[in-house]
Amino acid sequence: MSILQVAVPVPLFDRLFDYKPPPHTPIIQLQPGVRVRVPFGARECVGVIIAVKTHSEYPDLKTAYECLDAIPLIPKYLLDMYLWASQYYCYPLGQLIAATLPPRMMAGASTQIELPPDVLWCLTSEGRQQANLSLPETQQRLEMLLKILQKTPIGHCEATLALALPNPRPTLRALQRRGWIAPLPTQSPTMIQPPLPLNSAQQLVVTTICNNAQQFYPCLLDGVTGSGKTEVYLQLLQYLLRDGRQALVLVPEINLTPQMVARFRQRLPFALVILHSQLPDQTRLHAWLAARDGQATVVIGTRSAVWTPLAKPALIVVDEEHDPAYKQQDSFRYSARDVAVWRARQANIPIILGSATPSLDSLYNTKQQRYHYFHLPERAGNALHPSYRLIDMRTQARRSPFSPELQKAIHHHLQEKQQVLLFYNRRGYAPTFMCYSCAWIADCPRCDAHLVYHDLMDELRCHHCNYVQNLPKYCPSCQSQALHPIGHGTERLEEQLQHLFPNARIARIDSDTTPSFHNMNELLTQIHAQEIDILLGTQMLAKGHHFPYVTLVGIINADSGLFSVDFRATERMAQLLIQVSGRAGREALPGLVLIQTYHPEHPLLQCLIREGYGAFAESALIERFNAELPPYFRLVLLRAEAKLLDKALDFLIRAKIIAEQSPNFNADIRLLGPVPAPMMKRQNRYRAQLLIQTQNRRLLPRFLHDWLLLLQQNQKMSGIRWSLDVDPLDLM
Ligand code: ADP
Ligand code: ZN
Ligand code: ZN
Repeated sequence: MSILQVAVPVPLFDRLFDYKPPPHTPIIQLQPGVRVRVPFGARECVGVIIAVKTHSEYPDLKTAYECLDAIPLIPKYLLDMYLWASQYYCYPLGQLIAATLPPRMMAGASTQIELPPDVLWCLTSEGRQQANLSLPETQQRLEMLLKILQKTPIGHCEATLALALPNPRPTLRALQRRGWIAPLPTQSPTMIQPPLPLNSAQQLVVTTICNNAQQFYPCLLDGVTGSGKTEVYLQLLQYLLRDGRQALVLVPEINLTPQMVARFRQRLPFALVILHSQLPDQTRLHAWLAARDGQATVVIGTRSAVWTPLAKPALIVVDEEHDPAYKQQDSFRYSARDVAVWRARQANIPIILGSATPSLDSLYNTKQQRYHYFHLPERAGNALHPSYRLIDMRTQARRSPFSPELQKAIHHHLQEKQQVLLFYNRRGYAPTFMCYSCAWIADCPRCDAHLVYHDLMDELRCHHCNYVQNLPKYCPSCQSQALHPIGHGTERLEEQLQHLFPNARIARIDSDTTPSFHNMNELLTQIHAQEIDILLGTQMLAKGHHFPYVTLVGIINADSGLFSVDFRATERMAQLLIQVSGRAGREALPGLVLIQTYHPEHPLLQCLIREGYGAFAESALIERFNAELPPYFRLVLLRAEAKLLDKALDFLIRAKIIAEQSPNFNADIRLLGPVPAPMMKRQNRYRAQLLIQTQNRRLLPRFLHDWLLLLQQNQKMSGIRWSLDVDPLDLM
């Protein structure tokens, strides 16, 4: 008799459930990776067979209802990856599988579907002539898609169009019926452009990786913005993707996929699929199956794409590897970058982590000889490095966010018909709203946070829980009318900027003005057509986009990262600063970067602008070492939240005692806390945390495993939500 060991999507760590096989099921069908419908408590659910054994220690086994797959849906290597990740990140296997498979798969969706041919939608000559349509309201979707396609001569596939317009298929069909667009096979070789001749630094990377293509070969590609990293990826793919072999390319942002995809399509005659969370379920399922079955040669995607099965992998690329978006910050808290490295080791293939501002973790790994290091120090082509200057804000007589020096520079660059980019990482009109009579400040009733004043909607908003309230007319504490916004957000800066430069065309780019790919695309087109003079925005500006006509970059305030409680804040600040600056002067015009600060003598700032990111990283690593922080030490955070702070703290105190009594506890494992979280109250719940710190990373897996099982058994306290965050990105 066979017994099925099944992973069921329930919040129980390290626990599989035994079932008798469904009646009349051929033995051959009972294999790991097959989905089964099983009874669970009073309900039924879909799980995945992890193992088949001959004996169970449980009496009275229930019988599974049915197997949903004739052959395993999940290949063995992917199951192994799931098993490893479940242990490493201390997350229940069944939930992990449910979270990373395409949606609806764990609801039992059928995978017996015909794969539609992947086509590119391109304009016909008639479609090109359709300018300035004035279609009725009901057909605005038509106009929108047409406009997007008019801007992209090589066309778009459905998956990228879906970013701009959900469910684009009916609209595409309508356009096709009018004869304005036509489908082209994606692999039509006529459009393929030849590769660029590589410079010697690029050539070294390509040659070395090609020579080591048959083994696990992890590399950090440290190349300034515009140094030709993407060109390196393209040429590697060209060499390595033969005989049906495949590649996985990860990018941090959905908004960056269309750009990457367009570039890949121009150069590679391969079937390419896109995977990200905004795709329709069916499209995602198609892409997943096409990758598993080897029909897709290149998979480009965001974080979650790291879980895509590949029949014959040859290479993994993680672009902008430093980006915090690779870490999932809720439920299953994994780092896609780290999972990708594990995956490359499992598949015995090279992996490239590329960045202009590598994470301290990856730099440390190169020092430890775990990763190979490649450097592209120069911009490709003729573009020059930008030059940096600090502006001391302490000496400014008037408290304007724009120092006279910055204003003068803006003026000058505008006169020269060049573009200016201003970076300020705070959206809204003003971060605080205050009463001048009694010093009352508008706070979020649910969080430990001030409400942010948004002028456009005339409302106060919490950036942590999305609580919204109308602007009060009177102070709720003293009834005074002397209510004023304090400080600056991008909205207010835009207003002041327009006042200072009345003739300048200003575009504000933050998640309020530019919520979707479509808005971003529109803006990018205007920027490239030089219909915009000043770009003002948040970190959205730092991500991957090219602004060739920008010659002046202004950092309105560099100080926020210097004194934060978050130990990664300086690293993040340095990365943002260099990334934003890298957007400037990419072509013939050299760039100037002006950085406003109240701490011009700060050693990290000085180091960053005088000696560059590499030197900054060296000194930041020394600081981390001295503070016993990652990458030298490993951290795990046990977070708890409850309606009362004491409840959360009590839970953590008990957890600490349990930890200290657990068999694999060891003096090399330090338990720090519990303490209230830096943001103690959020969405009406009080948060506290216990930090686990160790230099001996080998001790951790077994300790965490035992501890979690004990916590699970002791979890009698009601009203507590708790979670483990392995390798947390921040300690907030
Ligand atoms: P990164 O990915 O590092 O930002 P890209 O690969 O996008 O850099 O290259 C920046 C620009 O330089 C692109 O326009 C690219 O076409 C060009 N480029 C890259 N490599 C070369 C090369 N070897 N010769 C000439 N131009 C190059
Ligand atoms: Zn008041
Ligand atoms: Zn709030």
